[in-house]
Amino acid sequence: AKTTGKNRYCYFSTNLQLELNERVSIEKSLRTALENESLIVQYQPKYNLVSGTITGAEALVRLAGEDGSMIPPDKFIGFAEESGLIHELGRQVLQQSIQTAKKLERQGHPLKIAVNISAQQFHESDICNQLEDMLNEAALPSHLLELEVTESALMTDFEETRDILTQLSSLGISIALDDFGTGYSSLSYLRMFPLDILKIDRSFVKDMLADEQAKNIVDVIVHLAHSLGLKLVGEGIETAEQWETLKQINCEEGQGYYFSKPINENDFFSLLANEPQV
Ligand code: C2E
Ligand code: CA
Ligand code: CA
Ligand code: CA
Repeated sequence: AKTTGKNRYCYFSTNLQLELNERVSIEKSLRTALENESLIVQYQPKYNLVSGTITGAEALVRLAGEDGSMIPPDKFIGFAEESGLIHELGRQVLQQSIQTAKKLERQGHPLKIAVNISAQQFHESDICNQLEDMLNEAALPSHLLELEVTESALMTDFEETRDILTQLSSLGISIALDDFGTGYSSLSYLRMFPLDILKIDRSFVKDMLADEQAKNIVDVIVHLAHSLGLKLVGEGIETAEQWETLKQINCEEGQGYYFSKPINENDFFSLLANEPQV
């Protein structure tokens, strides 16, 4: 029994050591990427669910690991937030995404690029000026930029949040509420804030077909959003059935592995170039 205990201890401590090593390595990769401005931004196309054409894309950040692997955001966004690096990370992702949107516009594809904004970045005192400057510098029309914010970004300070959203909206930038239905926010947020788009969280899309109640919730979300003048984007569409169901309940747009995974900028350009003209 004693040896088992010891082995178990060794086993756990080895795991812990591996985890620690991984963390240290990821932190190092993040700092290096920020220094060299070499974060990887991929784009997941969004589709009009009726016509099946591409309407825009969501920018999703990745990190090149020391061994050349691709590190997903869930592994480093948390650390970036704790360490304050999230501000620089967010700025660089915006910068890259705006440049991509500009290239697209030049190539005859004026498509909207949606960028995820963390709560901390959203509440930077000069966020609106920063965005305005970046758009001006790139000469990108503001309606080609969309920001995806989560409920937690809107929950801190009501007055301040409303001010920021109002300013962004008067700049012409559209705002999507991400992961809708997963947080603790009340429905009244939808009425109190100037939002443009509501993203139906992947968890609902996933359960929708098997679970009548999940389907009913999505139905209600769609009706509510439409009655408030919001547009809907369904997340995490993995099957033709999910696409069909969302289309039937009048969800306008969607994204998911069924259509395309997040892809590099060049692959996104090729995808657009090869899209059948309608
Ligand atoms: P999110 O904003 O909810 O992004 C959607 C996530 O779902 C992405 O994961 C995307 O790759 C994944 N996804 C898309 N379609 C499907 C599907 O059909 N099935 C499944 N299973 N997954 C799908 P990813 O890229 O790993 O990003 C995870 C989260 O990291 C994002 O969730 C977002 O909260 C955060 N994130 C990503 N990029 C940024 C960024 O630039 N800044 C900030 N602050 N957060 C970011
Ligand atoms: Ca998002
Ligand atoms: Ca989401
Ligand atoms: Ca999500």
